[in-house]
Amino acid sequence: MTEVKAYGTESKEADLKQIKIERRDLKENDVEIEILYCGVCHSDIHAAKNDWGNTTYTLVPGHEIVGKVKQVGDKVSKYKEGDLVGVGCMVDSCQECSACKDDLEQFCEKGMVGTYNGKNKHTGKQTFGGYSTSITVREEFVVSVPENLDLKAVAPLLCAGITTYSPLNHWNVKKGDKVGIIGLGGLGHMGIKFAHAMEAETYMITTSPDKADDAKKLGADAVLISKNEDEMKEHHGTFDFLLNTVPVKHDINPYLQLLKRDSTMVMVGAIEPLEPMHGGNIIMGRKRVAGSLIGGIKETQEMLDFCGDNNVTSEIELIDIKDINKAFERVQDSDVKYRFVIDMSSLK
Ligand code: NAP
Ligand code: ZN
Repeated sequence: MTEVKAYGTESKEADLKQIKIERRDLKENDVEIEILYCGVCHSDIHAAKNDWGNTTYTLVPGHEIVGKVKQVGDKVSKYKEGDLVGVGCMVDSCQECSACKDDLEQFCEKGMVGTYNGKNKHTGKQTFGGYSTSITVREEFVVSVPENLDLKAVAPLLCAGITTYSPLNHWNVKKGDKVGIIGLGGLGHMGIKFAHAMEAETYMITTSPDKADDAKKLGADAVLISKNEDEMKEHHGTFDFLLNTVPVKHDINPYLQLLKRDSTMVMVGAIEPLEPMHGGNIIMGRKRVAGSLIGGIKETQEMLDFCGDNNVTSEIELIDIKDINKAFERVQDSDVKYRFVIDMSSLK
């Protein structure tokens, strides 16, 4: 075991503060990574505040990790010291079930191991995330970062990136499709960038009129203010695909009315009961509401390679770790452009 510095919280009421945690000794197929940057996902806040009722404290959040390989175990073949790598929301899975065999480790039938708030298979203890100076992860859950990209702006791709890329990819969004991304936060801004890069006609659907200019700069062809009923009505029945990133309980009915016949809205945000859905909104037009969870490791690597080829990264505000509690507040107030990333050299 090695003791390393981290930021964590002891309860849902407490602020995050500097603590020490243990990382396991390097095993033969492990990669030890010096963490350079870690993104701040809204899920980190949900977990810190125990919004999903499953948090075990001490919690060290962070699942948008990029860094440099420090050392590798004897049987590691893909990485060597000095390589730039990333780790997302998972650090382990059974590798044997049908989901794992289909490269969908996030749906591992035995349960994937979360990067934080999971159970470390080797030590039996809690897993700790990326708000820390280093992490040790089995090779299969490490991805390679394209060298042409700005490393700190790559960090959010490991969760916000894959969570938006995967549904756009899975539902075959293609050139000319009319696609709406709902909610302009960390996930939403990546959704716009990917839909635009896939040459869809991309709409930002937002509650915040003041984000309209930014949305266009990020690649949206047009902006729809969801609180404006008349504006929404003009687009009824016209969208080929909607990606809903809203993080809290809300009314999905106004969005469903935007869909065309036989098209789908994919939920990736709120993992909680929603306002009741009116059956008529999906029965009429044979519409679908679906869900999606991050993406498998193979697809995460594909997404990173796509970003390398198309020069896609996240828009970030770089912060020192001591400012993390303020950053949490700002994310909750929808006041982030568009992802906080922690400069881990500030954790001393
Ligand atoms: P975020 O940065 O806080 O962005 C969410 C955006 O949703 C806000 O900026 C706001 O955009 C909009 N919004 C907020 N409250 C709203 C409301 N009441 N009604 C309508 N729109 C509202 O959050 P994030 O990091 O993108 O994460 C979004 C959600 O996805 C979180 O719940 C997170 O836990 C979840 N998540 C899921 C997965 C997965 O695999 N499924 C992965 C990562 C994260 P506007 O101002 O533009 O309206
Ligand atoms: Zn996340």
